[in-house]
Amino acid sequence: MNNETNNQNFSVIPGLNMGLFSPKDLSSILEVINKYDVPATKITGAQRLALLGVEKEQMLAMHKDLKPFIRESVANGVTYVQACPGKKWCRYGQTDSFALGRKLEQLSFDKPFTAKVKVAISACRMCCTEPYLRDVGVYASKSGWTLVFGGNGGGRPRIGDVIAKKLSDDEVLELVKKCLTIYQQQSRPTIRSARFMERFGIEELKKLVL
Ligand code: SF4
Repeated sequence: MNNETNNQNFSVIPGLNMGLFSPKDLSSILEVINKYDVPATKITGAQRLALLGVEKEQMLAMHKDLKPFIRESVANGVTYVQACPGKKWCRYGQTDSFALGRKLEQLSFDKPFTAKVKVAISACRMCCTEPYLRDVGVYASKSGWTLVFGGNGGGRPRIGDVIAKKLSDDEVLELVKKCLTIYQQQSRPTIRSARFMERFGIEELKKLVL
């Protein structure tokens, strides 16, 4: 859960589970929304639900009420993993995006990341979660996953580089681990993967990971 402020209004942001809320979870969150008379709610770009415009005292109380639905961050230090609905819920889906997302959340690294690392998974080539604009992007086709690295959708956008295609789940996991480890080892602190890749170069990275 994040708390963000413009010095007058605070936000409470439950969720960090690839945008998945069970109907029961949503019903419980709605109870909290009504209890504190939250003036506005919004789906965030990170697939979370922001409860906007609450006062500081309310925010602290809401934290307690919403605790069962909150994950502070992904365990491995990645900022977030986004996933599209995937094969189970979308007619275009080639495979299960949530299953790969859960495995990516479990990857472990020797040290924490010093800059944001955002991951997006799409279960077909339409790329609804914009994997080319994330630090790590993965999208599916009939022949397997394509892995993209070093994208960014911010004020200085960058289209990520394709590392490899036709990958299985396990091959994606192995390559993501290798790419992020090299990024950790070779990048200066706080530098995002997009800027790192501009300096390091896709061919050099491929030589090390493939
Ligand atoms: S990326 Fe493909 S499978 Fe995923 S939601 Fe979009 S259209 Fe559906």
